[in-house]
Amino acid sequence: MLPPTGVKPSAFVRRRGQSLLRHLFQLLRTNGVAVEAGVLAGVHTEGDGHELAEEHHRDVVIGAVLLVDGILEHFNVLLAQWARRRDYAVVAFFQRRRNPEQRYGSGTTYRYDAVAENQNIFVFYKLFWRTPVCFRYKGRRSSKDGRFRSKQRTELGARNMSTLVPPHGGGELKLLLAPEAERADELARAENLKKVSMSSREVSDVLMMSQGAYTPLEGFMGEADWRGVCADMKLSNGVFWPIPITLSADLELADSIGEGEEVALVDEESGRVMAVMQVEEKYVIDREFECQHVYTTTDTEHPGVQKVMEQRAVNLGGPVSVLDEGEFPAMFGDLYVRPSESRAMFAEKGWSSVAAFQTRNPMHRSHEHLAKIAVEVTDGVFIHQVLGKLKAGDIPADVRTKAIQAMIDNYFVAGTVIQAGYPIEMRYAGPREALIHALIRQNYGCSHLIVGRDHAGVGDYYGPFDAQHIFDRLPDGALITQPLKIDITFYCQKCHGMATAKTCPHGKEDQIQVSGTEQRRMLSEGEDVPMEFSRPEVIAVLREYYASLND
Ligand SMILES: [Zn+2]
Repeated sequence: MLPPTGVKPSAFVRRRGQSLLRHLFQLLRTNGVAVEAGVLAGVHTEGDGHELAEEHHRDVVIGAVLLVDGILEHFNVLLAQWARRRDYAVVAFFQRRRNPEQRYGSGTTYRYDAVAENQNIFVFYKLFWRTPVCFRYKGRRSSKDGRFRSKQRTELGARNMSTLVPPHGGGELKLLLAPEAERADELARAENLKKVSMSSREVSDVLMMSQGAYTPLEGFMGEADWRGVCADMKLSNGVFWPIPITLSADLELADSIGEGEEVALVDEESGRVMAVMQVEEKYVIDREFECQHVYTTTDTEHPGVQKVMEQRAVNLGGPVSVLDEGEFPAMFGDLYVRPSESRAMFAEKGWSSVAAFQTRNPMHRSHEHLAKIAVEVTDGVFIHQVLGKLKAGDIPADVRTKAIQAMIDNYFVAGTVIQAGYPIEMRYAGPREALIHALIRQNYGCSHLIVGRDHAGVGDYYGPFDAQHIFDRLPDGALITQPLKIDITFYCQKCHGMATAKTCPHGKEDQIQVSGTEQRRMLSEGEDVPMEFSRPEVIAVLREYYASLND
């Protein structure tokens, strides 16, 4: 029986379904159920589930059926189809609870019978809108009447079920990394394409796309998207986006590329082919227009502005397929966490609200305090490090990670913090950058971004709270991930504890602050760093590093 026509799940049901489906995946995996293929079968696409499985020669199908009133029969047909074709059928069942009579549906017999044909495990997932439950059934055909009976029902961590924010744009994560099996052939083919070299910023953007951190972008922006993003923080399809993600090429090279032609994108530093792109558009931008809108200045002393001004003559826009993740996965190992992986980690911990803390430095007590304020109001904190290029004097990533871990191990409740990193390169666009940081964190599954004083700023270009205020001016629904706005934090000798400018009435003279320069001097000269400023375990790691520099 085909579904009645004209019945479509609402955008909300779809989004909710997709987000729950991801958690279901994780839940099953952590409970030792092998899940290999996933699809969201909407009521009008009943073929998707098994076709996808067939195509990929999978043995396990996981599907979600969004049940709108009157579609129960359809669900049964669908399940029967899947179950007949596969050894295992893993089915996610979402019911919209409009009519309480339909809670359990009418198709119990169908369901069990369908599964009984396989004599295998069946996972039945019910969503009574806000309270998802996941069971694992093991059944047997009755010797009396030959019908399937559920013999064993195990609840799979329903209480731990998390519901994370959906990726930006409302759809699935857009992973632009080509399937592994295709990469070698594609790389060989790319050798014969015209090569466009990429700056470190452009390489970092390609890596962000590869893992879905820039969802829903499908490649480098064309002119309409570029203009909309600069002027109104909107892509041409209306989706919120605060900073242009563009690729540039020299005039001569751009002229030689035909529209629709594929080109290879090469890291200008390593010479590695990273991706292929189909050039759909070539356009020349007004750089001052971009800088004025995005950076609020055209001053070339600003490092972000400088990069825009150094771009090559012509922008190339079009969809990208990434073939190489570069050195990051090998260089950073477990720290290199992609959005699908962070979402899985959060789901495993049962987290729903997660606050991201952006950092590129070791964490002292002021940072610890920010993270702890976040732990108080969310399920956990995602300490998210910038893994892009380092500046002279920066602490290397391995030392920084070790120092942060020393703080986590000694001063946080176990299981409240996850440390990870991502391949972004800073643009120092202050308020606009805070917005894209929040957008990206939404893709990683974080519901909040900690936005402190002068977030992602540089010099005196932005006011200390501009990056917090800009969130107040966004249109409704622009971003689901919200800022946790926190003032500067410090140890106050009169308060005898950590405080913020919002909670401490005392003066600067009572605050114990150590500048970065002063700290470096204290560490390399073996001087004590005040306990009120930094934890001794953190200082020990940094001291060891500075000592190694002096050797
Ligand atoms: Zn005080």
